[in-house]
Amino acid sequence: MDQALVDLRTRLSCVVDAETAPVSDALDRVLATDITAPRAHPPLPNTAVDGYGFLNGRGEGDHHIPLVAQHMPAGATPDTSVPAGTAIRILTGAALPPGVDTVILQEDVEVKDNAIHFTGPIKQGANTRKAGEDVKVGDAIAQAGRKLTPADLALLSAVGVSEVTARRPLRVGILSTGDELVQPGADAGPGQIYDANRPMLMGLISRLGHEAVDLGHVRDDRDVLRTRLDHAAGQVDVIFTSGGASAGDADHVSALLNEAGAMALWRIAIKPGRPLALGMWQGKPVFGLPGNPVAAMVCTLVFGAPALAMLAGADWSGPQGFMVPAAFSKTKKAGRREFLRARIRGGRVEVFASEGSGRISGLSWAEGLVELPDEAMTVASGDLVRFIPWSGFGA
Ligand code: AMP
Ligand code: MG
Repeated sequence: MDQALVDLRTRLSCVVDAETAPVSDALDRVLATDITAPRAHPPLPNTAVDGYGFLNGRGEGDHHIPLVAQHMPAGATPDTSVPAGTAIRILTGAALPPGVDTVILQEDVEVKDNAIHFTGPIKQGANTRKAGEDVKVGDAIAQAGRKLTPADLALLSAVGVSEVTARRPLRVGILSTGDELVQPGADAGPGQIYDANRPMLMGLISRLGHEAVDLGHVRDDRDVLRTRLDHAAGQVDVIFTSGGASAGDADHVSALLNEAGAMALWRIAIKPGRPLALGMWQGKPVFGLPGNPVAAMVCTLVFGAPALAMLAGADWSGPQGFMVPAAFSKTKKAGRREFLRARIRGGRVEVFASEGSGRISGLSWAEGLVELPDEAMTVASGDLVRFIPWSGFGA
């Protein structure tokens, strides 16, 4: 599995152009350029609390400072200076006017006879924020390859960035294959099953931040599949198929990719998952996922998510998991990575009762996967195992 990931990482690169996008529309977009701050945050020294501002700290003991008539609300221009020995009413976020470098909390003073009365000490600079203490002009605040988060949009906006140069969203086509499949809403004959992979994969691709394009379903017919792939190659940046990816008679996806001459059938040592057919169709990468829904989902999360990130111009990022005590016990053999459908309850990670790769109910039950290493392993209840929530895959 690690070798497969290294191969993907080294062979794939960005396939989408850059364009200008307003920050308000840039959530989940991938930056095409580094961004430096055009303005400091905060732009001027300001107060972190509602209170009274004056110059310098005060020592132990009782103090009283007469108030000036003006107020400083947030947003006001700090253009009138506060004479030495006086204080000004000032509200959270307001810039400190000249003559103020210290603010006392309103709760800590008594206002009487147009003066504030309080007991020291208070340090010079108390309750104030320095200009640029968060971000200085010219600071690097976001790098090319970063997928923008809601917090990034706050940071960009705070320093006055309203537009970014971002990659256009990656268009990912989703195609189901198989004679046995019928579409939800249609009547299913005996022996037929409903297409479960396509809505799942459409959802996963959207969650990963890409544009999912529904390419429908094709029967196990090589010519029909060929025509559909030809059409799809002109429509999307990358194609995900499910089913027909092994080396059997009805496995037309792998047969066609082979015919096109740019195909690697990977028998990856993971459970569930193998095989994964990777190829190029008219210059577009094709991921031939296994038909089993559990395997299709695991392969999409483990291999598809980082591969799509590369194609979308984003940084490679492995899944973010963490160690959690097991609420189960299990013995596994050496020689393959195993992923178990799992969820956390009461601070321990439990796994689905069946490991069958056809069990869609277990996927729906789960909230992530437990990853067990390639080596042989015995897990006892309470042992730490690696849990990766769906969000740890970016989905
Ligand atoms: P295949 O990879 O085509 O050999 O399919 C493996 C298994 O996955 C078979 O049991 C298929 O019926 C099932 N399968 C394939 N495609 C889908 C799909 N879109 N939805 C649900 N099950 C599927
Ligand atoms: Mg099939």
